[in-house]
Amino acid sequence: MSKFEWDLHLHSTVSDGKLSPSALVAVAELVGLKGMAITDHNTTEGCMEAISEGKRLGIEVICGVELSSWDDKNNNWHILGYFLDPDAKSLVDFQRRYFKARRQRTEDILKKLGDYGYDVDISEFRRIYPGDNASRPHIAMYLVSKGYFSHVQDVFEKEIGNGKRCYIPDYYKLTVYEAAKIIREAGGVPVLAHPMQDFDNVWDVPWEMFKDSGIVGIEVMHPKNKGYMEALTLIAEKFDFLPTGGSDWHGNEVTGEFIIGQFGVESWVIERLRSFNK
Ligand SMILES: [Zn+2]
Ligand SMILES: [Zn+2]
Repeated sequence: MSKFEWDLHLHSTVSDGKLSPSALVAVAELVGLKGMAITDHNTTEGCMEAISEGKRLGIEVICGVELSSWDDKNNNWHILGYFLDPDAKSLVDFQRRYFKARRQRTEDILKKLGDYGYDVDISEFRRIYPGDNASRPHIAMYLVSKGYFSHVQDVFEKEIGNGKRCYIPDYYKLTVYEAAKIIREAGGVPVLAHPMQDFDNVWDVPWEMFKDSGIVGIEVMHPKNKGYMEALTLIAEKFDFLPTGGSDWHGNEVTGEFIIGQFGVESWVIERLRSFNK
């Protein structure tokens, strides 16, 4: 059963999750959550389906997103957005540009792999992975399915991981400020996801920049924050960030645990988030 009333960080098949938006909502209801946010990577495409399934099952669903963004030191930060209008112009424009750039990059990586002697076929790849979100993990699965590698991780380590010979950096990168702006213009509330993903000292995180960009909350309850929850709670108080949380569940078990609802927030946080939305 869920430990919290709300889980504010969940992925579906619309990005890299294992369950469809409806199935995700069904599991959230099953574990006893009062509400949840669907936060797929860089897309709100699953929101309508999740919301209508939520209505059917009597569980509240917030339309959310998790945008990838970068600071001027090239650190990668994930910005969550809540209470979004999925049809807002800022989001629609962003998604159009983002997925166009992503498709191009994926195809360029495949071409590069072809140059290095792998038998890859872009149209075959597209038949197997038709989604706009198809990128490096799917390329890795494709090469595994063709028998070149035994594990997805090996493809990253040898060919497509950062800095490897077939690696190509993202073509369209948002700054933290742009990500927060897209969310606000879509009527949403921006929150920093898993602040400690690439850091091991809370004082190395550029909190002032996040404050400055209009981010109102930081994810304190998150599986990647283990060992930092106390420090992050203090940071949230010091910088007046709302402490939020979610399991970042992708529909699979993480370290053998079924973690949906094990990280999250109580209803008062939802009321505070909503108040930023007015
Ligand atoms: Zn993330
Ligand atoms: Zn996530």
